[in-house]
Amino acid sequence: MNNTIPNILSNNNFTVTNIIRLLKSNDGDLKLLYNRAKEVKESIVGNKVYLRGLIEFSNICQKDCLYCGIRKSNTNAKRYFLSDEEIIQAAKFAFDQNYASIVLQSGEMSSPSFTERIDRLIKRIVKITGSEFGITLSCGEQNDSTYAKWFNSGANRYLIRIETSNEELYHKIHPRNGAHNFQKRIESLRVLKNIGYQVGTGVMVGLPGQTLSHIADDILFMKALDIDMCGIGPYIEHKETPLFEQRSTLMPLNARFELTLKVLAIIRIMMKDINIAASTALQSIDKLGREKAIQVAANVFMPNITPQSYRKNYNLYDNKPCIAESPVECQSCTVARINLANGKVAFGETGDSKHYITRKMIV
Ligand code: SAM
Ligand code: SF4
Repeated sequence: MNNTIPNILSNNNFTVTNIIRLLKSNDGDLKLLYNRAKEVKESIVGNKVYLRGLIEFSNICQKDCLYCGIRKSNTNAKRYFLSDEEIIQAAKFAFDQNYASIVLQSGEMSSPSFTERIDRLIKRIVKITGSEFGITLSCGEQNDSTYAKWFNSGANRYLIRIETSNEELYHKIHPRNGAHNFQKRIESLRVLKNIGYQVGTGVMVGLPGQTLSHIADDILFMKALDIDMCGIGPYIEHKETPLFEQRSTLMPLNARFELTLKVLAIIRIMMKDINIAASTALQSIDKLGREKAIQVAANVFMPNITPQSYRKNYNLYDNKPCIAESPVECQSCTVARINLANGKVAFGETGDSKHYITRKMIV
C-alpha cells in the first residue's frame, strides 16, 4: 500500500487521490495529519500570530452570490457605508493598538465614486500610519487600473476568494451572468500578483454540490497559483439566500468544521510559508474554532474593529459571531484566544507573507 497516510505525508505525494485520502482521514490518521501540519507550522512560520484589524466598511453590493446574506437582492439587509471619519478612526485604532495592519472589506462596488473614495482613504491611512503599515483590501473584483491605483496609493495585499475552483460548481452558487464571471475572478488574481500585491484567495468548504474531489482540486489550484495568503472557511447557510433551499443536502455543521480544519492542515503542509487566516466562520460553528485553526495551521487572526452598531448588518451567514462586541472587547478576546492556542500575539509586526518575501527575492 503506497498511499497510506504516513507515506503520503513523508513523500509529499499530493495527488488528487491522495489529498482525498487525507480529507477522509480519521482517528490515528487524522492525528498524523494534524501533527505533520503543526510541525511544518512551527518550523516554517513559528508560533507568532499576526493581527489584521478587520473593518467591514460597507455591506452595499452590486453582486448576487447565491450564498451571501448581503447579496444585492436581499431586500431585508439594512445597508450601510461607514463615513470616511469612521473608517479612519478604525484604522487609527488598529495603529494605536499596535496591530500593524488592517483589512478593508466590503460588498463589491465599482463606480468611479467608490474607487476614488477608497483611493483617498488608502492615502489618508498611509499618512497616519506610515508606509510600513499593512493594508489589505477585500473589496471584490475591480478593473486592472483600479487595482494598480490602489496599490500605488499604499495598499499592499488583496484578497479575492475564488469560492470554488470548479467552474461548473461556481455557476451553481452564482447567478449565470456577466457580473459573476469565473474566468474574470481567476484573472483578477493573476493581475493582482503582477501588480505586486501579496495575493490571497480561498474557498468555502461544505457547499451544496461540493465533493472531496472538488476540494482536492481547490487545494491544487491554490498551490499552482502560488498564492501568498489563504482564507478558507466553512460555508454556512443564510436564511434569506437562494442556496438556503438546498440546506437538506448539506453535511452537518460539525462535519463542515472538521473538513475545513483538514483542508487548512493540508494547505499548511503543501504551502508551508504562506499566511493562513483563522476565519471567523469557524467560530460560528465551534466556540473554539479559531483557536483550533491556529493550533493546526493558521498564523493570522482578524479581530473585528468595525464600529459595533454596524456589525449586525454585515450578516453574511446565520449566527455570525462577534456582533455584540466593541473593538476594545474584540481586542482582549483576541489576545486570550491566541494565548489559549499557544500562539504568540505579534503586536507591532506587519507579518508579511514569508512566501511573498521569498518570491520577491527570486524575481
Ligand atoms: N465582496 C467581496 C468578495 O466577495 O470578494 C469581499 C467581501 S465577501 C463578504 C467575503 C467572503 O465572505 C466571500 O469571499 C465568501 O467566501 C464569504 N461568504 C459569503 N457568504 C458566506 C456564507 N454564507 N458562508 C461562508 N462564507 C461566506
Ligand atoms: Fe457581494 Fe462578496 Fe457577498 Fe458576493 S460574497 S454578494 S460579492 S459581498
